[in-house]
Amino acid sequence: MPQEISRRTLIELSVAGTAALAAAEARAQRRPALPKDQKIGFAVVGLGKLSQGQIIPGLRSARSAKLVAVVSGHRDKAARIAAAEGLPTDAIYSYEDYDRIAQDPRIQVVYIVLPNAMHAEYTIRALKAGKHVLCEKPMATSVADCEAMIAAAKAANRKLMIAYRCHYEPKNLEAMRRIRSGALGKPRLVVTDMGRQADPSDPSDAWRLDRKLAGDGALGDMGIYGVNASRYLLNEEPVEVRAWGNTDKSDPRFATTDDLIAWQFRFPSGAICNGSTSFNYNATMSFEVWGEKARIRADPGAFYGGNHFAMVDGGNLKEIDTPEVDQFAREMDWMADVVRGKAPLVSPGEEGLQDVRLMKAITDSLARGGAPISTDWGYKRAVDPAAVVDIVA
Ligand code: NDP
Repeated sequence: MPQEISRRTLIELSVAGTAALAAAEARAQRRPALPKDQKIGFAVVGLGKLSQGQIIPGLRSARSAKLVAVVSGHRDKAARIAAAEGLPTDAIYSYEDYDRIAQDPRIQVVYIVLPNAMHAEYTIRALKAGKHVLCEKPMATSVADCEAMIAAAKAANRKLMIAYRCHYEPKNLEAMRRIRSGALGKPRLVVTDMGRQADPSDPSDAWRLDRKLAGDGALGDMGIYGVNASRYLLNEEPVEVRAWGNTDKSDPRFATTDDLIAWQFRFPSGAICNGSTSFNYNATMSFEVWGEKARIRADPGAFYGGNHFAMVDGGNLKEIDTPEVDQFAREMDWMADVVRGKAPLVSPGEEGLQDVRLMKAITDSLARGGAPISTDWGYKRAVDPAAVVDIVA
């Protein structure tokens, strides 16, 4: 079985240029941090790779957010992390006593960083406990779960944000702005390719290959970045989808989930998106947008750092240079500012639901041999990230 690029390698590639990132971040994070007692308190639920590698470090450097509690099934790990972060032992929760967060005023936001199929339950329990929720992508593994999460946020009168970090990332924002400004001419074609080699020996990939915990496999884990990117790049919603796939069922990794899926979205403007995802191709998170006059190439376009964007006009290529930021700190600061009433909700539950609905349409088309599926259900995003999120924080 080919295993040339694992998730670990992808993350290593993704954080390439970390030194440059630290220097550039200093430039980018210009607004001063709030005093600690005014920062919004976050509880992180699920202490896996993303929490330990990106989210907790992001909270250390965040301007308006701070870590105040952890929720884990492994008490020893949680105690070690809590001690390292200076949290008292009464700030450690298990999944069993999670509902007690309702009585903990230190916690204002709960950040759900669990396997995808657990997002809905833990989001709804946090909302019922009176907390705001930031939930990792994909929002959930079914449309019904997404709808229940949105309804629970409404009933509790709390904010629900989905962790779409690219909505806050300077190069993606700059690409959106150039497209909106007409610098490319009319956008005609978007191509998004998001995938990597899945490694079943890595516990963090094992659940991603298990439909019960992951939902859609490569599509829900990686392809979702392309589904979301085509929508925020074009600032419109697909009205029709067709999809084809190729899953080698003799590969034990794909016993319950799909591997390669390629889809086409048709947009109301006439623009077309070709998207692909796989857990069995060379690692990539890239996209391109072709306009009548020029194109934007992003390769990589959605790594944690070191993204590389260029404006291409015939043979001329010009780098798009924007500050590197800690994308996780920025996104959590945005959520904190939403809670403080200082920022609009850019990636609400409805955004997560739209991607889950579109991914369902993709898999429905796949199951029907590429049959066209209408996705013209009238969704319109409430807030365009390009219109409200600053490139420099
Ligand atoms: P991990 O497997 O590394 O971590 C998940 C954690 O969830 C585990 O460490 C564990 O924490 C907890 N957990 C509870 N029940 C289970 C279970 N049955 N099986 C496995 N874990 C369980 O995953 P990641 O951190 O990589 O991903 C978590 C979420 O974050 C996913 O939804 C993923 O899509 C998203 N993600 C988003 C990224 C982004 O860039 N926005 C990047 C990577 C992931 P504990 O031991 O503390 O209970």
